[in-house]
This record gives sequence, structure tokens and C-alpha cells, in this order.
Amino acid sequence: MFCYQCEQTAGGTGCTKVGVCGKDADIQSLQDALMFGLKGIGAYAYHARELGAKDEQVDAFMHEAMFATLTNVDFDLSRYMELVLRAGEMNLRVMEMLDKAHTSTFGSPTPATVARGTKAGPGIVVTGHDLLDLYELLKQTEGKGINVYTHGEMLPAHGYPKLREFKHLVGNYGTAWQNQRKEFDEFSGPILVTTNCIMIPKDSYKDRVFTCGIAGAAGVKHIKNRDFSEVIEKALSLPPLAESEQGTLSTGFHHTAVLGLADKIVEAVRAGKIRHFFFIGGCDGAKPGRNYYSELAEKVPDDCVILTAACGKYRLNGRDYGDIDGIPRLIDTGQCNDCYSAVKIALALADAFGCSVNELPLSLVVSWYEQKAVAILLTLLHLGVKNIRLGPSLPAFLSPNVLNILIEKYNIKPLGDVDGDLAEMLGERVAG
Ligand code: SF4
Repeated sequence: MFCYQCEQTAGGTGCTKVGVCGKDADIQSLQDALMFGLKGIGAYAYHARELGAKDEQVDAFMHEAMFATLTNVDFDLSRYMELVLRAGEMNLRVMEMLDKAHTSTFGSPTPATVARGTKAGPGIVVTGHDLLDLYELLKQTEGKGINVYTHGEMLPAHGYPKLREFKHLVGNYGTAWQNQRKEFDEFSGPILVTTNCIMIPKDSYKDRVFTCGIAGAAGVKHIKNRDFSEVIEKALSLPPLAESEQGTLSTGFHHTAVLGLADKIVEAVRAGKIRHFFFIGGCDGAKPGRNYYSELAEKVPDDCVILTAACGKYRLNGRDYGDIDGIPRLIDTGQCNDCYSAVKIALALADAFGCSVNELPLSLVVSWYEQKAVAILLTLLHLGVKNIRLGPSLPAFLSPNVLNILIEKYNIKPLGDVDGDLAEMLGERVAG
């Protein structure tokens, strides 16, 4: 940790301000949290802006918060804490703006069953988060005999009416971003990467990868102005994909679709048919320990419902969870930004039961990897949500002191043993 006071490594041999460095480590930690949160907010604001939506208040906050990360600008820990929580508030605002931009452009998502695997014929797979890129590709490929597949965070596209009206949007190929090198190697058509998370492509398939928008990689063709003609040419020049059916996945449980079932859900909880809700999701990654999420989902009892979002869903969405009185036991709200839908659902349930979100029979088990996940965590803290289980490890950028403050105030917990955690969560809260 670099100390701004003595311009040495804090606590190292050149450290001249013993006692000050400790304080700086906390401020540095909060500045880091703020910066990571801002990156997440920036990503969502970028997508919304591409669809014509912007928010002066979010922009003004971003300027203020960036300014507040300058060297020697403020040494008041509590003011930084406040700023970090305001970042969570702004992220909620920006997720709402993006939700509105998506639904006003592509319609409100409804539940969709999506075929996994590939169909015989030319095909393009699209990964990342930018629905507008996918829409433009679908328009440009229409009538050309090319099938389009979603990958990773693009899966929720199948829920949007204006996207699924394209009949050549035929299914989903592959899983989360960290499996790209294997999955893209095996996909014989072109691959369009619209945003993070891109893995450096292997030479074996690099000539089939195209990036656009914010995404890029050295030696990979970058598409400008959403002119996908080169991707289309490539798809038509390559040997056709083979037929490979691999079952189905479900998605499209936007908050409007789930809240349409609100009365049924409340009735099922009151009748004791739904015991508990789990949110299990967030960013996936390759770090060991992430099988916790699959194991937990497998062990969740049959009288419980699992909400999910983001690419962490691939840890658990490969099986059929069935339903409880017509309410699906696995509810995929969408991309990471669609955690907004999960928040709306939780707030609506709290309202229906006349309690706070913390008093609902709901446990949040969040996986984090990159900066959008940090922004979402800050949103949950801004909303006062407690008892979040965070993994696969607690963020290393938080100093021990800042982490302790968060643990004391919000009871953030690291992942433990699956059986022990599950028993604890099931006993945590009971709604009336
Ligand atoms: S959910 Fe997070 S880890 Fe997954 S692709 Fe999106 S940004 Fe990357």
C-alpha cells in the first residue's frame, strides 16, 4: 500500500509517519472502492447513453467522486464512506435508467425458453452486454441464412420482444466469459465481442473474432459504426456449424414479469409453500471456490425459489428446478445490470409483507469479479441490505479496518461451508 503522506510503502522501511499511514490505508481503500464503483457506473451509463438516455445527476456525481480521489484532498474517513454509499445510490439510478432504455427500445422482457447448442448452418455467436450491437447484427443478418447465438451475458436478450422477433436468433451457445477460450475454439463460426469480459483469444480462433464498441484485443478486427458486413462475410465463408442440441435454458424474468406473479408468490409464502428465496448470482470467474454457488443451488430445498442474474447464473442454470404452484423455482432476472430487477422484486415483496428487505425470507449470495459487481454491492449497501454473503473471497482492496466497519454495519459474510451456510440462511428470516 502506497502512503501519500510519506511517499513510501506504508509501514515499510522508508515509512516516516507511523500512525498516519494506517489512516491513509483506509482512505486509499475507500478511494479504490469508489473508483471501482465509478467504473461500474460508467459502464451502465455508457450503455444507456448509446440508447439515448443520460442523467445529469449521475454525470455530476461522477465528476465529484473522481475529484475526491485526488491525492491529499480529504482525510475524513466518514466523508469517504458517505461518498462510497452515494456511489451505490447513483448506481441504482443508472441501472434504472438502463432498464428503462432497454425496455423502451426492445420492449419489456418476458420469460423465454432458450435452446442451447447449435443448429446446422452458418452461425455467429455474440457475447458481452450490448443489446444494441446484437439488435443491429440481427437486422443486418436477416434473410441471409445465418443463425445468431447469444453467449454469456447476452443470454437475457432472448427475453426482449423486439429481439426475439428475429427468427434467426436461434439459441444460446456456451456459458460464462472465463470459458471463452475453450468454447470459442470449438465454435467454428465468427464471434462478435461487444463489451467486457473478453479473454485474449487463442491463435486457433483469433481470425474469427471481431470486437466492437468498448471491447478490443490486439490482432483482432475491430468493427466501427455497427457495420457488421465483415462478420457476415466471414460467417458465409466458413464451413457451416454442426447440429448440436444441448437442452434449454430459461431467462427473461424482468421485474415486470415477476411482479405479475406477485399475488401468487405472496399467497405461496403465506401458505408455507415457499419457505425461502435465495439470490445466487453476480459475476463469474475462474478462481477456485466458485463451485460453492453450484453446490449451494443444488442443495437449496425444493420449497425455495432461486433468483439469479449476471454470468454467475451459469453455475446453476444447467438443470430443471421445476416450479411451485406455477411459480418457477429458478428466476433469471437477466444481465448484471438487471440486478435492478432483483432489487425491485425484493422491495415489492417487502412492501407486500409490510416488512423491510432484511426481514424477508431472502438471502443474498453474491459472486463478484469485476467493477460492475462492486457498483452493485455498493447499491445493496446504500439500500441498507444486510447479511450478504460475498465470494469467492472478500474484496482485497478493502483495508482490514474498512472491512470491519462494513462487517459491523452490514454483517457482510465470507462464504463458509455450503451446508452450514444453507442451514444458517434458512433460519435467518421468516416473513409473516
Ligand atoms: S457479469 Fe461480470 S464477469 Fe460476467 S461478463 Fe458481465 S461483467 Fe463480466
